[in-house]
Amino acid sequence: MTGNMVRTQAIRDVEAYVPPAHRFDEREAPGEVFGENVFSKVVMQKRLPKSVYRSVMSTIEHGVTLDPLVADAVASAMRDWALEKGATHYAHVFYPLTGLTAEKHDSFFEPTGDGTALAEFSGKTLVQGEPDASSFPNGGLRNTFEARGYTGWDVTSPAYVLENPNGNTLCIPTVFVSMTGEALDHKTPLLRSQQALGEHAERILNLFGHTNVKKIVSFCGPEQEYFLVDRHFFLARPDLMNAGRTLFGTKPPKGQEFDDHYFGAIPERVLGFMMDTERELFKLGIPAKTRHNEVAPGQFEIAPMFEPGNIAADHQQLLMTTFKTIAKKHGMEVLFHEKPFQGVNGSGKHVNFSLGNAELGSLLVPGDNPHDNAQFLVFCAAVIRAVHLYSGLLRASVASATNDHRLGANEAPPAIISIFLGDQLADIFEQIASGSATSSKGKGHMTIGVDTLPVLPTDPGDRNRTSPFAFTGNRFEFRAPGAMQTVSGPIVTINTIVAESLDYIATTLEAAAGEGTNFDQAVQSLLTEIITEHGAVVFNGDGYADTWPVEAEKRGLANLKTTLDALPALIAPDALKLFSKYGVFNEREMHSRYEIGLEQYALTIGVEARLTLEIGTTVILPAAMRHQTEVALNIGALKAAGIEPDYSQLRGVSAPLVALREALNSLRSALTREPEQGADAAFSAAKHARDALMPAMSAVRTAADTLEELVADDLWPLPTYQEMLFVL
Ligand code: ADP
Ligand code: MG
Repeated sequence: MTGNMVRTQAIRDVEAYVPPAHRFDEREAPGEVFGENVFSKVVMQKRLPKSVYRSVMSTIEHGVTLDPLVADAVASAMRDWALEKGATHYAHVFYPLTGLTAEKHDSFFEPTGDGTALAEFSGKTLVQGEPDASSFPNGGLRNTFEARGYTGWDVTSPAYVLENPNGNTLCIPTVFVSMTGEALDHKTPLLRSQQALGEHAERILNLFGHTNVKKIVSFCGPEQEYFLVDRHFFLARPDLMNAGRTLFGTKPPKGQEFDDHYFGAIPERVLGFMMDTERELFKLGIPAKTRHNEVAPGQFEIAPMFEPGNIAADHQQLLMTTFKTIAKKHGMEVLFHEKPFQGVNGSGKHVNFSLGNAELGSLLVPGDNPHDNAQFLVFCAAVIRAVHLYSGLLRASVASATNDHRLGANEAPPAIISIFLGDQLADIFEQIASGSATSSKGKGHMTIGVDTLPVLPTDPGDRNRTSPFAFTGNRFEFRAPGAMQTVSGPIVTINTIVAESLDYIATTLEAAAGEGTNFDQAVQSLLTEIITEHGAVVFNGDGYADTWPVEAEKRGLANLKTTLDALPALIAPDALKLFSKYGVFNEREMHSRYEIGLEQYALTIGVEARLTLEIGTTVILPAAMRHQTEVALNIGALKAAGIEPDYSQLRGVSAPLVALREALNSLRSALTREPEQGADAAFSAAKHARDALMPAMSAVRTAADTLEELVADDLWPLPTYQEMLFVL
């Protein structure tokens, strides 16, 4: 099939597409299926002996180390439950540093030697596994001769059964560590950082008179943006298939300017997909809640309800896998890339953060009179101080080759990390800075001018979509994370830097108490000190304005534009000290993460560069040459007929063709140039990718995109932006 035939056929198929018949019946009503496939607390309570259940709960709720005898009892109940659910295999699921989810499946059944097989699953197999998995990135933490990696059961994240037409699997969320116990994954540091955050938050709560506080954790509500494209188009775009984004393509004549897609009616087929995924997510106990269209055509968002950070992170990974599978069933492909289409709005994954527990709720709720709510102000001040002191680490936690296309552009938050507080809080902290806060700007109300409508209250703080870290009423919303990345990295960072601030505050207040200082006064002067020293990070203005980077520089805030600028923050002395002090990463682990960040960056761009070369050479160049030939033949025919031809069209297509050939040659030679070896080989490779490969790719793209606007439509081989974004 020629390129054009692929495109025509794809469009025909899209037109003829009938969504899969609706499987929705009463039994599958959301309330009925929620948590159906989860080995939840309720299931455990029903199936475990009382003492075992109590023991597991004290691990989950109070962090008490798990008793191995208990593991045997849990394993046996879990196996029976899973077999009843049709599971034939079990899998330790883990989260390696590729950012993807990995699983190793084992059969429950073991031959007994007499020709039959028995379902076996002991506490030992539940608690620990040893997948070989030596090919995952480890940044030097595992040498091949000591390549053992272990998975270990995370009791706090519930096991679940994953359905598959060919048989179900019991999935057990686990950590993944090396023989020395060093983290090879995203979950281990997340659990460690939850522990640190909890410990120091509890100290503060004790000072405020709370006793017997249940474990404090961070809560995370991740908002996931994504694109859907028809699978036919996807399969006809090698760049989308292999790099997750288009490396070529001109903006459609009608982009997102009209805002007619944003929050508009959801297309029927997309709605079918959403309902299907939500039902699957519900079965897995993932509380999918909000869904709507996003800014760009073909772009959507889903926001599950917030959960403890560790569980939210596992659920987020499971959500992404579920999306991929179900989209295929509906003849679509989901794109999680941060910038699949150049010039079109990109996708983020906002991480909504707060801390608290079931009893106390979010500790970031201001109440009606926040100026009088010292406990809230202390937790809020801790976040402000943390973000100011460690903005580089926050920036590094969202750094990737793919997210670089988004950060700092006029659609996503800038690469400068600042905090938005909203009018009410900003005003209170201003009062605190100049002594003490005595009033809170109250809620207003708006009159709509229609008698039948009630007077609606307005929030005391407005929204600011341009801020990377915004207070939104009962939480902070970190908007810089990319759509593709796991939320673990950002949560680990926020947990740890906030733990450090809480530690600082608790230590100061404890010392003041020891000296007999009045508690209220001690809090007052500490808040004033924090806001005076760290208020520079508060910015309520327009983060997209040209004046902001200038102003930010004056305030001493960093503007780390690319991943290469951001990653070194991970191995700066203060970062190494911070993470080891709170037991989240040792120095080796930090260095390994730095190395892996660089490797992944170079790898991503390397693949894109080779794809650009291949598609440019074998797909676009020949198509453009065919077009050139047709134009030339036309000129010949005109001349033969005695008509004076217009050469401008031929010149028009020939110039960008020459440019394309030259750009391809430059890219080819950039790809063969070896980056420097040596101690900092990973950095050199990443630098080569950024400074040599990216500009060379961009030159190829410019020439190719010019050609797309000139070459006859029936000769153009790739599905266009117009088709991919609007045909759903
Ligand atoms: P937005 O208006 O920001 O798009 P959404 O409703 O799409 O809001 O998403 C908000 C997310 O924030 C949801 O995942 C929600 O559960 C989460 N969230 C709400 N309250 C908290 C909280 N206290 N802590 C953490 N996350 C929260
Ligand atoms: Mg939202």
